[in-house]
Amino acid sequence: MKAFATTRAVINHSQKRLTQAIGKRTLSTNRTLSTQPVDPVYSSTMYNQAVDIFPSIVIGPDKTISPQGPFAEAQAQFLDPDPEAVKQISDSLLKSNMGIVAHYYMDVELQGVLTAVQRSSPLMANRIGIADSLKMGDIAVNMCKTDNVQAVACLGVDFMSESVAAIMDRNGFGHVPVYRATSASIGCSLAESAERDVYRAWLEKEKAGEKALHVIYINTSLETKAVSAAAAPTITCTSSNVLQTMLQASAQVGPDLKILYGPDTYMGWNLETFFETIVDSWDDERIRTDLHPEHSRKTIARLREKMNVFPQGNCVVHHMFGQSVVDTVEKHYDDAFVTAHLEVPGEMFSIGMKKSLDDRGVVGSTSDILNFISKKVHEAAIDPRTSKDRLRFILGTEAGMVTAVVKSVQDILKKTGGEVEAEIVFPVASEAVMGVDDDELGIVPGAGGGEGCSTAGGCATCPFMKMNDLDAVQDIIDMVGSGDSDVILKSHLPPDRLRGKMIDGVPATELGVEPIMFMRDYMTNKKLSEALLARVCQGS
Ligand code: SF4
Repeated sequence: MKAFATTRAVINHSQKRLTQAIGKRTLSTNRTLSTQPVDPVYSSTMYNQAVDIFPSIVIGPDKTISPQGPFAEAQAQFLDPDPEAVKQISDSLLKSNMGIVAHYYMDVELQGVLTAVQRSSPLMANRIGIADSLKMGDIAVNMCKTDNVQAVACLGVDFMSESVAAIMDRNGFGHVPVYRATSASIGCSLAESAERDVYRAWLEKEKAGEKALHVIYINTSLETKAVSAAAAPTITCTSSNVLQTMLQASAQVGPDLKILYGPDTYMGWNLETFFETIVDSWDDERIRTDLHPEHSRKTIARLREKMNVFPQGNCVVHHMFGQSVVDTVEKHYDDAFVTAHLEVPGEMFSIGMKKSLDDRGVVGSTSDILNFISKKVHEAAIDPRTSKDRLRFILGTEAGMVTAVVKSVQDILKKTGGEVEAEIVFPVASEAVMGVDDDELGIVPGAGGGEGCSTAGGCATCPFMKMNDLDAVQDIIDMVGSGDSDVILKSHLPPDRLRGKMIDGVPATELGVEPIMFMRDYMTNKKLSEALLARVCQGS
């Protein structure tokens, strides 16, 4: 993919220095992100966790793969969980007849134990699931069906346990309780930014008199989804499908469609910048081939013009770590090539754009990223001056892509006989790991399902997520097993703000799940459903 010759750039707090460094561009918009005040104690906790060195793996000749730095430590923690903890959790899960669903961003020790529990016996195979927030509910339903569990522990933030409970209810398992690991509230500042009145007010103001579609990030509470669905036609999205959802909606509805995007302001601004870049730099044929067959510069320009992003939605963790990523890259990885998927948060996106101007990076799709890395490794491998160098690549996309990268680099080294090493750097916290379907790698750091609000580790470095520790998990299983802690157990139930409520004559829970079902329709059929289209066209 050739470098973007963009004349525009996005600016926000965490990107200011970088954007100044780019220098060649003018600003398309003078934007300021409104933020909630941050508690100083909380803030100092966050800064103490700032990223220093990113985890990485080195791919070398003769199929060697070596983990570096925190990745190696994470791997050790993940692969060698405490056998006693594994046995204790397995035994008590069976005794309590429970299952566990956990988000990918649980800490590495906990993920290691849970994975070992799952592999320990066929009895455990369906009782453990580690997934993104969308799949957690499906896994919980499945364990009710296959193992008839009497309760499910949900490890994540509160809106996740709330969604899991709602999906179980919708599938006929509303009688199976979902328990959080702690009785304290496990908040999420991004989800909460959409729960304020200002969000609904923005929605109603912007959709008035328009054919509008509200595209809402999946990581929001059920209540937000219900209230939004009542206010405007609403579909959820993940960071993996948001771009195609918007393009498809605009292709199906036409140039009058107004897209309202929230609450993740960073992601919305990235998308706006991306559309502007395409209009400036791509021709119609490339847009049709690489982006969407029914779009052109003219339609993308119109889409961008009609797009509106909620300006006050942010995650406090992302906000603080954004600058940390930029600082870490500048301090330790200035020599590295930077790759950034179109969907990564702003700081990584901007670094990738800046580097792409000098062919030191790429911004694009996963295949653009793979082609770029392969091209650079091939060039170095066949040049006698560089055939023993180590090339570093920052992988600004889902970590699961590393398996394709490893295979491509190994093929190139085998064919060329070059002795180049490729170090693949994951710009995430080492605590975030996911399993991959590859015997040589086993696990890699990073997000697995297109979620995560920050390339610095996002939810993996979030203190709310960290409230789910091993002791808390063991306690909740024991409480269910002992059967005599009903009052305490009630405090572990997810928020249940929608039960029994009606909005405009429709059960609120049904409305809350509706935007997720619209997204599932779209993912299955690659088209927006007729029901959603009808609502958009009626302006209801
Ligand atoms: S890091 Fe993730 S879970 Fe934590 S506040 Fe941000 S979006 Fe929410």
